[in-house]
Amino acid sequence: MFDELIGNSRVKAVLKRMLVSDRLPGAMLFTGEEGIGKKLFALEVARALNCRTPKDDEACGVCSSCVRIMNLNYPTRDDADEWAQIIWTNHPDVGLVVAPRRVLRVEQMRQIEKEANYRPFEGKARVFLIDEADKLNDASANALLKVLEEPPRTSHLILITARPAMLLPTILSRCQMIRFSPLRPDEIESHLVKNKIDLKTARLRARAAGGSMGRALSGDLVTFTSQRKAMLKVLHALVVSDDRAQLLRSAEQLNEAQYKDEFEERLDVLETLIRDAWMLSLGVDTSSLVNEDLSAELKEIAQRMDSSRAGDWILQIEDLREQLIVNVNRKVTTDSLFLVMAGDVAAGKRPKIR
Ligand SMILES: [Zn+2]
Repeated sequence: MFDELIGNSRVKAVLKRMLVSDRLPGAMLFTGEEGIGKKLFALEVARALNCRTPKDDEACGVCSSCVRIMNLNYPTRDDADEWAQIIWTNHPDVGLVVAPRRVLRVEQMRQIEKEANYRPFEGKARVFLIDEADKLNDASANALLKVLEEPPRTSHLILITARPAMLLPTILSRCQMIRFSPLRPDEIESHLVKNKIDLKTARLRARAAGGSMGRALSGDLVTFTSQRKAMLKVLHALVVSDDRAQLLRSAEQLNEAQYKDEFEERLDVLETLIRDAWMLSLGVDTSSLVNEDLSAELKEIAQRMDSSRAGDWILQIEDLREQLIVNVNRKVTTDSLFLVMAGDVAAGKRPKIR
């Protein structure tokens, strides 16, 4: 049942409509960042198609088909050849492929092509998940094209990726794209609480997760807490103390973070802090803040903040993010980001590329 999956109600509605009208595309591409449940949604589609006692075209979740589809038989050894086979569920019509090492192999796509051409053994449809579809290389992508072009009516291919831009246009054009959104902090929090994590930790993890359940479960709270502290300092220096020296120091630290993976996380955190202060300045209740536990600090900022600037700051951060995407191989200088935000440097002068 889609109801039991977390978040993405729009995606649920779209998939449900396709199932009800019997118009589920033969080839779909599920995109959206890591750890938000794309694979679970794909398995849920497979269950809906093969459930023995469906209700309103959705899987019952308890019949033998539904139960077996959730059991994937991953190889137990780290043997690339074993991982290069279709990984079947306990249901003979539903399987998955993942990249055994860095790429999805041609043989894997040939296996899928062969299997997709069989009629279902037991259920109503055969469903194949291609996880990490961004790891298709030219050869394996071409091997997949054939079956993507005209999958048999009873077979469905669901490609899954967090990086759709890495896929060849020929693959993209043959798949119906379904875009998943990041999960909301409250959605993550209530799931964590349901799984016996105490409320305080759940709340902090939900905030640190940036919309990803995977990150909420595995994320590093110490790093998050220190990132948030650093970014709160920036906002404080911008609004309350007008401390240029602090802004320069923070910009330097942000530049160093570029060389680790933390850079974008820091920008995310800064953005949530700005949004929270903005909301507070508009009189919104503290319970709807992402960083509710910092509401005292944020209130001080909100009282002194000209709320029209918050919108500009978010645009400036977004602008920097875009620069980073375009210049993935070059480092973008962030030296002046906070000074631009402080209004000392004209926005057009930034960011410069080294
Ligand atoms: Zn069922």
